[in-house]
Amino acid sequence: MPGKYYGAPVTTDSVIDRREPTGVSDELPIIFQSCSSFVRNLEMLPPRVTTEVSVQGDAAKSIFKEISMELNHLLKAGFGRRGFLSGSSLLLTGALFGATEEAKAKTPPVAEPPDAVPQEKQDKNALLADLVTANHILQDQGVVDGYGHVSVRNPANPNHFFISRWLAPDLVTVNDIVELDYDCVPANGDTRKLYSERWIHAEIYRVRPDVKSIVHTHAPTVVLMGTINEPLLPIYHMGGFLGTGLPVFDIRKSFGMTNMLINDAAKGKALAQTLGDKPGALMRGHGGITVGNSIMHSVGRSVYLKINAEMHLQAGNRKIETLSPEEAHQAEAGNQEFPKDWDLWSRMVKKS
Ligand SMILES: [Zn+2]
Repeated sequence: MPGKYYGAPVTTDSVIDRREPTGVSDELPIIFQSCSSFVRNLEMLPPRVTTEVSVQGDAAKSIFKEISMELNHLLKAGFGRRGFLSGSSLLLTGALFGATEEAKAKTPPVAEPPDAVPQEKQDKNALLADLVTANHILQDQGVVDGYGHVSVRNPANPNHFFISRWLAPDLVTVNDIVELDYDCVPANGDTRKLYSERWIHAEIYRVRPDVKSIVHTHAPTVVLMGTINEPLLPIYHMGGFLGTGLPVFDIRKSFGMTNMLINDAAKGKALAQTLGDKPGALMRGHGGITVGNSIMHSVGRSVYLKINAEMHLQAGNRKIETLSPEEAHQAEAGNQEFPKDWDLWSRMVKKS
């Protein structure tokens, strides 16, 4: 009974105050809080002590991230709520009991991720290779499924952008990339079938010269956040770009009854207008978008949009102490490219 489960919030500064729990079991936030608290406590130790336990601290962070990923996979695998919680509890128990021994056994990683290459300095081949990788990452991270897409502005011709032809993202290769102008006309006469929602990209690029890349997602938790009339605020630093919340595009307000898709220029313009100068938007009954100043930026934001939405919903009726606007601003200043995430996510899709 979603309407009852997600009670209307009362927002006071950074706090979303909810009604008392309705008795629905929800252990997951406790698991996340426990892990976060464990890592945070390590980080708060004096410098001398922190140095002595630094390997354990890094290992704990790594394990926490692995747990999050495993939980995502369990969710994606369709575990029921109770089954999902049982699985996650087992994972957590095993991870915590094994943490110390694993930290001793593992040597610290020595490879640093490569520095990010600014998009305007990439040659076309490297840019298109990143766009292909982005398609695979987004599918692997659960941001897109058979639908959803990512594009990048052409640095050599800023009125054009690159995007895959109509294809499931995990199948995209460099030969599937097409170049479109603001009217969604292929630059090279390509006649292959295109995404009906390519107008999302064209009309945002047209009015946002700062935007170099766009992701469109139908991730279930992002869809849900666009329907429950609650602000999606940053729960942790990686969601700092959410700031004071994202605008919600309601296609019905301007276009009445539709199939919900942004399948022409007028709808693309309306969405771009709702987006304004924000880093993303939710779309009622449909999904969401994130924009960025590079492929890594828009992809990173889309992944953390999804994770932040998952955490918001997992909190159920509990009070969420979100980042304040100033905390969000400062956190966002440190997350401009997500290079280490991009390196990790790229390796994950290249292994499989
Ligand atoms: Zn869509």
